[in-house]
Amino acid sequence: VETSGTQLSGKPVEFSKVDARLLPTVLLIGRPNVGKSALFNRLIRRREALVYNTPNDHVTRDIREGIAKLGDLRFKVLDSAGLEAEASSGSVLERTAEMTANVLRMSNLALFLIDARDGLQPMDLDVGKWLRKHAPGIKIIMVMNKAESLDDGFGSVDAASGEAQILGFGDPIPLSAETGLGMNDLYEVLRPLLEEHMLKNINESVDESNEDCESSEQEDESKLPLQLAFVGRPNVGKSTLLNAILQEDRVLVGPEAGLTRDSVRVEFQYEGRTIYMVDTAGWLQRTKSEKGPGSLSVVQSKKNLMRAHVVALVLDGEEVSKTRKSMTHDEVVIARRSIEEGRGLVIIVNKMDLLKDKLYDRVVKAVPEEIQTIIPQVAGIPVVFVSALEGKGRIDVMEEVIQTYKKWCLRLSTARLNRWLCKVMSRHSWKDLASQPKVKYFTQVKARPPTFVAFVSGKTRLSDTDLRFLTRSLKEDFDMGGIPVRILQRVVP
Ligand code: GDP
Ligand code: GDP
Repeated sequence: VETSGTQLSGKPVEFSKVDARLLPTVLLIGRPNVGKSALFNRLIRRREALVYNTPNDHVTRDIREGIAKLGDLRFKVLDSAGLEAEASSGSVLERTAEMTANVLRMSNLALFLIDARDGLQPMDLDVGKWLRKHAPGIKIIMVMNKAESLDDGFGSVDAASGEAQILGFGDPIPLSAETGLGMNDLYEVLRPLLEEHMLKNINESVDESNEDCESSEQEDESKLPLQLAFVGRPNVGKSTLLNAILQEDRVLVGPEAGLTRDSVRVEFQYEGRTIYMVDTAGWLQRTKSEKGPGSLSVVQSKKNLMRAHVVALVLDGEEVSKTRKSMTHDEVVIARRSIEEGRGLVIIVNKMDLLKDKLYDRVVKAVPEEIQTIIPQVAGIPVVFVSALEGKGRIDVMEEVIQTYKKWCLRLSTARLNRWLCKVMSRHSWKDLASQPKVKYFTQVKARPPTFVAFVSGKTRLSDTDLRFLTRSLKEDFDMGGIPVRILQRVVP
């Protein structure tokens, strides 16, 4: 696939490594029934869609947003079907159009769908006119959906395409949301356009952080409610630990009416902070029925982990001592996945009251060491040894959780980072080698988790060793140990 000249890390842009907030946005638009929802569903596959409700005139119109995956491309996709469903009913037309215009403004590109079987309809012309008026700066790509039936080798695709030219948005891409036909062509057209937009989004977010000054470090995102998930196998003592923690600090709210059992949320205050326990319902229900060496099935799902800012993985200290293994396979999977997904991770070893003297000491020594080998990419993941039954260590648990969250929310100003960069560059031997890439500039593009962009001059990108050095220095110098920190590279002339 041809890519445009500007590139992240000297390779084609790696969409999968970019934070969702920086991904370009594509709006699906077209008259009702052309297949917007069908295309939306194909693009997001089985991933979750966010639904914005826009209640109006007692009618709810939805805009769905999801992360689209098309080959290696990732982008945000908006489905306006819920809006246009009302468009024909006259009185609400205007407001609907206004809402669509707002959504259009949030978008980088629009896919304008028509129906290959119906041919061009008067309403398509209306949509076209409307788009020309409201989307002057936005690239419109024509898509001729339901083309699977036209693929008969008799040139009907060409005929339908020719008709679509009238709209003035260029050649339509024939495809079928239902069968997947033509998705490759869509990919080819979208790739260069999306790449360009994503680089622009990255640059803009870099500019934003350039404008920030030291004071922005005071704006404390760690004051925002913390979503905490206690996960672990049945019987390790999660319920007991939760009760111990909630004992004094409890303001229990929930289960909230109207929510499904899965989304039951426990809310409590800890030292003036709001903490939401996510996932609690899942294991509360199951612990009672699934005693024994059960699995982590409930909490294993990526979706659940992604909801948490900090994952507190509870282990059974007695098991650790008996098996001489810190973690079972399931627990390793959870721990690794939490870090890969950019969550903060705190390991809790419970039931320490059952271990005496040498056994106790051995567990305290072995677990942190073993975790380091299990997750070598993040040094210093906090490990807390507790006895939930005796209420010992519960304060330590909460302190580690909050420390981890604070680090996870850390934001460093560009000025401070570049002062740091000067120092760090002089510490590292590469600086003297003419052939080595140089980091010219360093900036944080986001927090939660902290993500940085290194602007690298030269023809090559930083080696993995260089990157590790930078990451390690960054973590040491700004006390970010124990959390996943990401550094993206951007090669500049
Ligand atoms: P929307 O109103 O634009 O969101 O359209 P929908 O996605 O709801 O689709 C309208 C109808 O067209 C549904 O019955 C779909 O099953 C059908 N449809 C959508 N895409 C295709 C396609 O690629 N081929 C065919 N044959 N039918 C499709
Ligand atoms: P969950 O399934 O992870 O929620 O585990 P529970 O909180 O229901 O605890 C399972 C069993 O372990 C219960 O019998 C608890 O009394 C016991 N337990 C929990 N924490 C401790 C602890 O710190 N020490 C000891 N000795 N037993 C504990």
